[in-house]
Amino acid sequence: MSKTLKGGCLCGEVRYEITQEPIAMGKCHCRDCQKATGSAYFPYILVSPDTLKISGASIDYTMKGSSGKDVTRTFCPQCGSYVFGEPSILEGLRTVSGATLDNPEDYKPDADIWVEHLQDWDILDPNTTKFDRSPES
Ligand SMILES: [Zn+2]
Ligand SMILES: [Zn+2]
Repeated sequence: MSKTLKGGCLCGEVRYEITQEPIAMGKCHCRDCQKATGSAYFPYILVSPDTLKISGASIDYTMKGSSGKDVTRTFCPQCGSYVFGEPSILEGLRTVSGATLDNPEDYKPDADIWVEHLQDWDILDPNTTKFDRSPES
C-alpha cells in the first residue's frame, strides 16, 4: 500500500495525512484505551512521526500508562474526538485512530493486544495475532 491515508476528527478541525505505509495496525483492548475511547478498544494505526502530517488546532492530555511511562492523547478541542496517541514507551512513534480515517475500510488490523482486558461484550477476530499484553512485554 503506497497511497496516502487521510482522516480527521468529527467536526473537521483536526485533519491528517499518513504519507507512507503504517508500521502496524491493531486493536488495543487495555483498560486505558477502553476508558479513553469510551469503547471496547482503541483501533490504532502505528506510524513514524515523519510520515504523519497534521493540521488544525488540537489539545494534548498526558497520563501515566500501564507501563508506568507517559501516554499523550491528542483530541480535537472543538468536538472532542480522540485522534492521535503517543505512548512514550514507543520512543517517538505515534498512533492514529483507525476510526477517524476518511475511508475506514483502509484500517486493516492484524493484531489484538492487551487481550487479557478483553470485555465479555467484545468479540475477537479469529484471524489476528493475539497478545495477552503489549507485544514488547
Ligand atoms: Zn473536531
Ligand atoms: Zn491500550
